[in-house]
Amino acid sequence: MRFIKPYVLLVIAGIFLLLGYVYFSFFSERLNRCTDVVAVTPWLAPIVWEGTFDAVLIDNIYKPMNLTVATTVFAVGKYVRFLQDFLETAEKHFMVGFHVRYYVFTDRPHDVPSVNLSQGRHLSVIQVPGSNRWQEISARRMEIIQTTIERQIRGEADYIFCLDVDSKFHAHWGSESLGRLVAVIHPGYYEQTRDRFPYERRPASTAYIPMDEGDYYYGGAMIGGFVEDVYTLAKVCRTRFEEDAGNSIEAAWQEESHLNRYLLDNKPSKVLSPEYLWQDFKAKTKEVKVIRFSGVIKNYADVRPNV
Ligand code: UDP
Ligand code: MN
Repeated sequence: MRFIKPYVLLVIAGIFLLLGYVYFSFFSERLNRCTDVVAVTPWLAPIVWEGTFDAVLIDNIYKPMNLTVATTVFAVGKYVRFLQDFLETAEKHFMVGFHVRYYVFTDRPHDVPSVNLSQGRHLSVIQVPGSNRWQEISARRMEIIQTTIERQIRGEADYIFCLDVDSKFHAHWGSESLGRLVAVIHPGYYEQTRDRFPYERRPASTAYIPMDEGDYYYGGAMIGGFVEDVYTLAKVCRTRFEEDAGNSIEAAWQEESHLNRYLLDNKPSKVLSPEYLWQDFKAKTKEVKVIRFSGVIKNYADVRPNV
């Protein structure tokens, strides 16, 4: 029996080592570079990420339409303290070059800061009742948005965005965000599977979503679209919230839960990536190239009427 010479074995082992090295270095480099994002929903609505649109081109389409964008923001109780930064940063980054009408809802109209607004931008203060339960303030937003659209916004704007006040703009948020019904993927759940989403899971609630249903977990801090589409959304969510209240049930995340149920049945025509709703306490991830709007870090005990 003839033995293979040791040096031949060494050469063979060397070749395998080299091949293994080439393969793994190529593979791991691919892994490191893998920051691709999905830019379309299964129902073919765009998911807006940096790099998927041409801001100048989109602006050139929308600007000649002479649109007005309503922006509602609630600053009830101590939340008035967030208004200054919210408005100042919105003036720098939000729908620049468009007509913008801010609607500030507050129980403290005298504490609304005076912020210099660019030409074509207006601010109205609308007095609303205070409350000693943040859940109620948060929940009543839908009702107030509904009634204010009926009374005022309908005749004054084409599109509307409803935003959380405890936030700041950090980069461009423009006409790429316009659409019939626009929702944002919650930054805490864009990497999770749907069984992990904090949807309302009790069938007794009208916001109930079974474990095997759901597209995305949408953030309640931003909802947008045509005034009429957001009106219907607000009206339906408000009605369901009240129906639940009548049955002594409050959905897990109040209006965010109802919003998620509504958007499951009424698919958004455009979905904004978490670039449009980040959280300051959350470290930036590889996929997020630009943070456009982000919730500030707040001391809940300090700003909320109850904890
Ligand atoms: N809000 C308010 N006063 C309150 C509680 C809430 O004005 O006492 C409004 C405010 O616009 C806030 C939104 O409701 O941005 C949602 O509440 P919060 O930001 O506390 O919820 P979170 O983003 O922490 O889930
Ligand atoms: Mn918030």
